[in-house]
Amino acid sequence: MRDHQQIADDLVLYALHELPEERTAEILRHLQECQECRREVNEITSGMAMLALSAVGSAPPQRSRERLLKAIQAEPRTARSFVMRRPWWSFVPSFAAVLLALFGLMLWRENTVLRRKLDASLQQVDARQAALDRSQMVLEALTSPESAHFALVSTKSLPVPEGKASYVRRTGTLVFTAQHLEALPPQKIYQLWLIPTNGSAPMPCGTFKPDAHGNASMVMPNAEKGAWPRMFAVTVEPDGGSETPTMPIVMAGA
Ligand SMILES: [Zn+2]
Repeated sequence: MRDHQQIADDLVLYALHELPEERTAEILRHLQECQECRREVNEITSGMAMLALSAVGSAPPQRSRERLLKAIQAEPRTARSFVMRRPWWSFVPSFAAVLLALFGLMLWRENTVLRRKLDASLQQVDARQAALDRSQMVLEALTSPESAHFALVSTKSLPVPEGKASYVRRTGTLVFTAQHLEALPPQKIYQLWLIPTNGSAPMPCGTFKPDAHGNASMVMPNAEKGAWPRMFAVTVEPDGGSETPTMPIVMAGA
């Protein structure tokens, strides 16, 4: 039976479960009687727990450290097996975990950059598609046979009266059409005049009244033959027409 001092020297190895069976049994017997050794085993155990929790954790109690060193000197074979408890390859998993974490971080950053680039590209594509759609829409509206076209002018200005006279000198045929004519009082009528180049008096070419839309047309198969018109003109005359034009001329065209 060993004394308290000898037992106390073995407590660290006991706490590490590094003692042979018969000496473990001896220490267990001693611990039942010795409160001091029980307390020390508790200290060693809690110190080891702290060590296991943190790589830079609190140091084991000074006395336990001394005992550990002493035990290592006394039992080089057993102690070596404790020191070698963590061979170099046991660090491989944690090293791999760190590498994996770094790799993951790199991938995440790469992913973020790529996603940003992709978003920018998608926005550009959207903008181009929108411009293309717009051009196609404009083209279709302007050229499609389905579309109806309207020419708009200021609503304040009335359409200008305009007329077109076609004269065939050989046959004396005269065709006259007019648009946008102002309506006339019942006792008034429009009259067309042929004004010759030779300076002789204007020749009356017929009278007409516009319809409700301001349109008028006149076909005269037997007008003056062989005339040389300098221009045609329209005046407003009393109903029935006149021998000479009454000023002003409503419209004229050479
Ligand atoms: Zn003791």
